[in-house]
Amino acid sequence: MSYTALYRNYRPLKFSDMVGQEHITRTLKNQVIADRVGHAYLFTGGRGTGKTTSAKILARVVNCLNPKDGEPCNECEICKEILDGSLTDVVEMDAASNNSVDDIRSIRDEVNFLPTKAKYRVYIIDEVHMLSAGAFNALLKTLEEPPEHVKFILATTEPQKLPMTILSRCQRFDFKRIPESDIIKRLKIICEDAKINIDEDALKTIAILSEGHMRDAISILERCSQENTENITINQVKELVGLPSVEHIKNLAEGILSNDAVKSLEAVDGILKDGKDLYNFLWEVIKYFKDILVYKATQKIELYSEEEANEIKKLADQTQKQRLLNIIYTLSDLENDIKWSSQKTIMFQTGIIKLCQTKEVTVKEVIKEVVVETPKIAKKEEIQPAKSVETSGNKGAEDVWKKVIGSLKTSGKIRLYTCLISSKINEINDLVWEVEFPNGLTDFNKRILEDVNNKNDLMKEVFKLTGKEIHLRYKDLKESSNNPNTNTSSNSINNLGIDINIIE
Ligand SMILES: [Zn+2]
Repeated sequence: MSYTALYRNYRPLKFSDMVGQEHITRTLKNQVIADRVGHAYLFTGGRGTGKTTSAKILARVVNCLNPKDGEPCNECEICKEILDGSLTDVVEMDAASNNSVDDIRSIRDEVNFLPTKAKYRVYIIDEVHMLSAGAFNALLKTLEEPPEHVKFILATTEPQKLPMTILSRCQRFDFKRIPESDIIKRLKIICEDAKINIDEDALKTIAILSEGHMRDAISILERCSQENTENITINQVKELVGLPSVEHIKNLAEGILSNDAVKSLEAVDGILKDGKDLYNFLWEVIKYFKDILVYKATQKIELYSEEEANEIKKLADQTQKQRLLNIIYTLSDLENDIKWSSQKTIMFQTGIIKLCQTKEVTVKEVIKEVVVETPKIAKKEEIQPAKSVETSGNKGAEDVWKKVIGSLKTSGKIRLYTCLISSKINEINDLVWEVEFPNGLTDFNKRILEDVNNKNDLMKEVFKLTGKEIHLRYKDLKESSNNPNTNTSSNSINNLGIDINIIE
């Protein structure tokens, strides 16, 4: 089954099938029952929150021959024709690709004719903020004096880009991010129906990763189910989206908290043998201690399997808050310090040993001792270039990029983080950096990278660290090297490279 198939097959056909938007579906149903449906609606909200699905249900129910309790029957002739897209009275239009004055004028001329078969002509205009200024004016004229037999449903992720004149003529409904519990509920129904076996904590992880977007949740589920026919586990979900296994991290945390240097160093060796990046690993460790601390303070825990969560609870119970805070600060210092060291591994291992030996030592002290005890390292340290982010060349860009990726993670932007974790930065010049994806980019990742909010988050992070207006360009190395003739219609950001401008 393809991604589209699963998403399409389980698109809700009734308002009551929708989850997380009860405040909207209730009102719409009541309007239908009372026969007080408006002539123009504006549905706003993030991707995958149900705007288009609701618009389609509304288009059917106002035309359905046998509506019941404000819901379409989905079985009468009209409903069926709308469902298979053959009824010309219901027009779905994507404003991103039909944004000219002429496109809207053709609607304006058309609305004067009576519907061919249904009671109402319904125009669903998706991403309506993409219309040109001229097109908005043409649309406004139609909205000002709409014929009785016409309904408009406008949908957008960016309502702030719409002219006030349009906003004031529509009934506006704001679609919320869907709560995790509702996403899980819906995924369960789909899994049951599609005979997909999945663990409870794997479902929960998908719900957290989808960040309130049902479509993304279904997309992750789809990809998991394609790779695994038996039973989907939390580790498979994590592997698929690129979250590392917590086994080594847990061992290291246990080692540090029980002052066991041997165990700690074994965990570090395990990571190094796996070829994992030391810097990323350190971020994971800091995050893990932060999660222990968060659990201690709030009793909340996310993104871990039941077994892993129990480990965290155990460690939280055994440790004082202050000790956890000290470890987090020390590891954060260590992170800064190994950044400029030419002996990263030694520095890292020494820092870990010291953490095991004493509860109060700071890394600054650790490093001082290392420098004194091993003059060779000190010497190499001295011949390093300027210890500042202003360092020119790719090294500076790489370090900034690692920081950016790390801070996405700590600030909870997990999807963007997992998209970028294997990316490499290539400093083209002072103002342009190319973000390279050696493993390629999936459609899912592309959508995340194209998301306006995500772009803004990324811009801000780079600006914070560099203070410069750097343009980021995405490059899918797999696609450009293996498949230069790929159809670019749906891959606009791969080969052409989309610039992101830093907004102050
Ligand atoms: Zn019907």
